[in-house]
Amino acid sequence: MLSILRVPVVWVLSALLLAACNQTRDASDAGAHAPPLLLISIDGFRHDYMEMADLPALEKLAADGLKADSLQHVFPTKTFVTHYALVTGLYAENTGVVANSMWDPERKSRFSLGNRDAVSDGYWYDGEPIWNTVEKAGKTAATYFWPGSEAQIDGMRPSIWKPYAGDTPHDVRVDQVLEWLDLPEDRRPAFLTLYFSAVDSAGHAHGPGHPKTIEAMVEVDRALGRLLDGLERRGLYRDMHILLTSDHGMQRIDLDRYVLLDEFLDLGQVNVSDWGPAAQIWTVEGGPDADEIFQALDGAHAGFRRVWKKGEGPERYHFDDHQRVPDVTVEAELGWMISNKPYYAGMQRGMLNGMHGWDPAWHAMHGIFIASGPAFEPGERLPAVRSVDLYSLMTRLMDIAPARTDGSIAAFEPLLASGERLAVDETHWQCGAETFIARTAPGSAALHHRQSVFALPRVESASGARFSDTGVEFWNKGTEARIEIDGRVFPDCRKSPDRDAG
Ligand SMILES: [Zn+2]
Repeated sequence: MLSILRVPVVWVLSALLLAACNQTRDASDAGAHAPPLLLISIDGFRHDYMEMADLPALEKLAADGLKADSLQHVFPTKTFVTHYALVTGLYAENTGVVANSMWDPERKSRFSLGNRDAVSDGYWYDGEPIWNTVEKAGKTAATYFWPGSEAQIDGMRPSIWKPYAGDTPHDVRVDQVLEWLDLPEDRRPAFLTLYFSAVDSAGHAHGPGHPKTIEAMVEVDRALGRLLDGLERRGLYRDMHILLTSDHGMQRIDLDRYVLLDEFLDLGQVNVSDWGPAAQIWTVEGGPDADEIFQALDGAHAGFRRVWKKGEGPERYHFDDHQRVPDVTVEAELGWMISNKPYYAGMQRGMLNGMHGWDPAWHAMHGIFIASGPAFEPGERLPAVRSVDLYSLMTRLMDIAPARTDGSIAAFEPLLASGERLAVDETHWQCGAETFIARTAPGSAALHHRQSVFALPRVESASGARFSDTGVEFWNKGTEARIEIDGRVFPDCRKSPDRDAG
């Protein structure tokens, strides 16, 4: 469903009115001359990593622009899934990128990251990536790595792109992006990407917070410093938009928290297309049907969080409709892995210490989002935001017409429309025995509950303020609130007066 339909008309109208009288802040007046936009991903950079190290370039960007508390991704929180969802504003069921390893039942073929032919084959990517939107608008897109950017999608590629080469030194990537920005204005890319994998690799190998992971963060920050210096020297730093993102967080794992699927299923009688935090299982001829697989797994192990047949998963995952969504999905509890005996037997303690792929609402799965440039005020802050909304934001900043998207501009609309710096308001709520923290801004809120954070765009409400995403809602008026998460309603919430931090 298109959640853009739920964007309150009042925001759109107020934005149009304000944009008309505040031309310096909104990029839309720039028309064909909208400033270039650089989208950066630091793979696997968890939302709280900035607190773990001295990272001057990241801190400079955050001080000079907008920083959200965190970035909430789509299910499953895997690199190809989340990166491609971010550049299309679409959930996995609408991109068809449902895992890093996928099975396609129509073609009867497999996609994996190591399969160059598959990775560069547009068949696997539905939806319109932002670089195609840019090119359709008659502008130039240049990608220095991004999942999907090597493939011809809908008959198009970025004008400038690079086949993925993970060993390309960071400085080479940065210097190339600076060179592209040095092109004469009629040839200069309007949209560029930059990608770094080192923090993800270290997080997997050593775990989040490990000195080696911090070392990788410092190294990427140094490369970003080189980028910012280069932009300053060109007088571009304040005149272009930089969106800094990461594609998921990272969770510590260990060999004591593995569930071995072959204890419950004959693996010769099913096709398992993906393993780890969520296993994707297909029926095969002569094997058990989806009901039988479901029965064999449902409640079978404390490490399983939920098991569902296609079409019966959590609504907010938007992981139902596509042909590549498997017959049965089994999702592990945070920190638990789903594997099999032969693989597990080959593992050595300490080989793999970090993973991602669980429920996007786990705070540990949230990434970062920082944005600088003419549309953002220095020191501006937002609660957690949704990655599916960044496509809408990018098309707005580049003043180009968006394609169909699952996201909306609601969370960013007040910020783009006003010349005032936005801040986050924090309130604490008691709903029976459960405590919630709401971090709110004019266009969005984030609901913090136990180890989860739900990013919620603002929607229309007859009274009070209502923030809502699929299956999750936070309504409040004065000292009253109503909260709903995955169909569970927490009524009669009361504001905790003594915890009213600003
Ligand atoms: Zn990743």
